[in-house]
Amino acid sequence: MTQCDPTLPESGGEADLLPRTAADQPGAAHASALVILDGSQSGRDCGDCTACCTLLAVVELKKPGRFACDHVSRAGCRTYETRPESCREFFCGWIRGDVPTDPEWRPDRLGVMFDQFTARATGRQRLIAFEMWPGALDSTAVWTWMQTRARTQKIEISHRDGTWQELATD
Ligand code: SF4
Ligand code: SF4
Repeated sequence: MTQCDPTLPESGGEADLLPRTAADQPGAAHASALVILDGSQSGRDCGDCTACCTLLAVVELKKPGRFACDHVSRAGCRTYETRPESCREFFCGWIRGDVPTDPEWRPDRLGVMFDQFTARATGRQRLIAFEMWPGALDSTAVWTWMQTRARTQKIEISHRDGTWQELATD
């Protein structure tokens, strides 16, 4: 497993514990709260983005969060046909249409990947913003959107430096 960036902390904090798997985001739970859109339904596709292949833990591969997967390349997944179930079932917020659908909001362009799911253990809806590089969350557009969204749903922010922050308004 190779570290994607020499400045990346060894631990992604809680991100290490976030399974990149539908096991913790059962479709039924998603369906009850979210409009489910994968790339084929939404008209969006991952293109050459591979953000989630670094940001999220993959249980089957024992890959921790915020480490590049051994199988990721500039061209995408080298083991696409045999990739784990977790990978097959994951769709980020941009693909799902849960964040602005502007192409510039694709995670590798925006520098932020949004992931919304229902935690199996608690049944709690979680919306997490993963910052990919320092300063990505400083974007006015991102902050404006998050502050509006935080009026109705708490947002957990995973900063690039490994720290976490909660954004919520009463
Ligand atoms: S972060 Fe989203 S757009 Fe990028 S590869 Fe993963 S699912 Fe596709
Ligand atoms: S196995 Fe493929 S799809 Fe899954 S994280 Fe690794 S590179 Fe990405």
